Amino acid sequence: MTEKDEAIYRIAGLLPGEDIDQESVQTTTRLLLEAIGENPEREGLLRTPERVAQMYNELLAGYRTDPITLVNGAIFEVDYDEMVIVRDIEFYSLCEHHLLPFVGRAHIAYIPKGKVIGLSKIPRIVDLFAHRLQLQERMTRQVADFINELLQPHGVAVVLEAFHLCTMIRGVKKHDARMTTSAMLGYFRSKIATRQEFLDNISRGAEALSI
Ligand code: ZN
Repeated sequence: MTEKDEAIYRIAGLLPGEDIDQESVQTTTRLLLEAIGENPEREGLLRTPERVAQMYNELLAGYRTDPITLVNGAIFEVDYDEMVIVRDIEFYSLCEHHLLPFVGRAHIAYIPKGKVIGLSKIPRIVDLFAHRLQLQERMTRQVADFINELLQPHGVAVVLEAFHLCTMIRGVKKHDARMTTSAMLGYFRSKIATRQEFLDNISRGAEALSI
């Protein structure tokens, strides 16, 4: 494995094993149902443990997605050094504090230094980090670090805007609380005009954002 591949795996932070432990998730779900006073044997709940296990397998697939396979063959050498922006990438994640979804959009930009990545891979990189138990702040940083390592561009910018179900439906019940996080690397950090160009671009579509 090359040094660069190692760095990519380190940022991807995969968990061991090919799959989540579906049997334990099912057993635990049954226990949870009992703990809240429900009867796991009643008809509506009979298959719930199985469904929950399948759901987590899907929602947490990012822990076990091979990042090298994911970008396989989609990095191209080009003579292009203008900003590339991919806006409004939908994502779904689970907050690690409550195991409730947070849902939003990612806006990503980079300034190539000889290498670009196929457009369809960027949403997959977002999913690699969204499909885990996450903090929005950490996910933002991970996506930026990953693209930075992968392409070694002049700069990377990542902005995530998301609605967190845990604040919408419980506690303070702020139904419209949208959280925005950003990570700016390279030129996006050091050059105000570059950062502004990106922020102006993504704010032009902002009024359309809703879930
Ligand atoms: Zn939460």
